Parts: sequence; structure tokens; C-alpha cells
Amino acid sequence: MKKVVILIGVPGSGKGTQAQKLIQEYGYCHISTGDLLRKLEKDMHADPVERQQLQDMKSGKLVADELIYTLAFRALDACFTKEGGAILDGAVRTLAQAERFYTYFVEHNMLNEICVVELYIPDESISQRIRARVADGEGRPDDVRPEVIQNRIAQQGNMAIAPIVSFFKEKDILLRIDGTQDIEVVYNKLLECVKKDT
Ligand code: AMP
Repeated sequence: MKKVVILIGVPGSGKGTQAQKLIQEYGYCHISTGDLLRKLEKDMHADPVERQQLQDMKSGKLVADELIYTLAFRALDACFTKEGGAILDGAVRTLAQAERFYTYFVEHNMLNEICVVELYIPDESISQRIRARVADGEGRPDDVRPEVIQNRIAQQGNMAIAPIVSFFKEKDILLRIDGTQDIEVVYNKLLECVKKDT
């Protein structure tokens, strides 16, 4: 089993759903940077500078890379201390982040232990899926505002994540799965990558 699963995909592509299934079956630590940021937002004792950087999240924009590294590496280190595996859910959303996380795994001598998966859905499906999430009561607090959704598509849509996809493709460690398929079909494909020995 791979020790780290890196899930890449536009908002609404099913990263959270697939992460939950892996966690239930294999007990990975769930490192969702969106969840970590929302937790930080509620933490009145957190570093004010870090909390200030959350303004971008509220408008659907990306927050500063450095804040992501602080939160994600802290969570990864805690997970590895418990000898667990980890799922990085939405933690890689810029090319700089892709490079930084890749370097982290090289430095930790873990390149053979990571599985990078892109859940692909077309941009046209993003707002529809985000709205469906709200209707199901699973939406993010800001999912309902049209301008926020537009910002998310502009900053986190397929054009925006293309350089990340290319980066991992060039490293020959990317599995692309059609995320419009049935949840179970996607999950079984994901498992092929997760269970690969090398
Ligand atoms: P999510 O719950 O994963 O959709 O994330 C909610 C929001 O958190 C996003 O719209 C971004 O503003 C912010 N965010 C989450 N992960 C990242 C990341 N890796 N880089 C920058 N911003 C992020």
C-alpha cells in the first residue's frame, strides 16, 4: 500500500468523497487543507498573521502557499509520527505547491510511496456539483455566492490546475481518473494506484 495518496482535482471533483472511502477502509489520516483552513478560521488563539491570510478563502481565491505548507507539513509529520499513511486532499493547487510537496517527498525518501491521482471532471460540471453539494447540506460556507463560485472556477478550474497535472505527468507518477463515473468505479481505479507495490 502506498503511504501517501495525493488527490488533485477541481472543486466538486469528488476528492473528499474518495478520501472518506479510503479512510474508512484503510485508516489513512485525512489532510484536507480546506478543512485545516476552516479550523484555523474558528481558532481564536491562532497566529493573527495566519488568520489574516484566510480572507482569500472567503472570496473563493487561493490562500498563500506558505500557509498551506505550514498546515500540511505539520499534519503530515503528526500522521507519520503515529506511523499512519496520509491522504492529501486538495493540498496541491498551484505549480509551486506541486514542486514543494514533491521536494518534501524526495527529501523524505518517499517517492516510491506516493500515489498521485487526478480526478478529472470538465469545468462545466463544477458549478453544478458545487450547487448539488449545497443542496445536500455538504457545501462549504461560501459555496452559495455566485461570485465565489466564479472565482473558484477561475483559480481552481482545469486551466488553473493544468500545470500541476503536467508536472506530475512529466515525473511519470500521475494517474488520471474520469471523475464523472460512478463513485465505486472511481474508487476501484484509485485502489489500483494505492495498492501498487512500487
Ligand atoms: P476546499 O474545502 O478544499 O474546497 O477548500 C476551500 C478553500 O480553501 C479554497 O477555495 C481555497 O481558498 C482554500 N484552499 C484549500 N486548499 C488550498 C491550497 N492547497 N492552496 C490554496 N488555497 C487552498
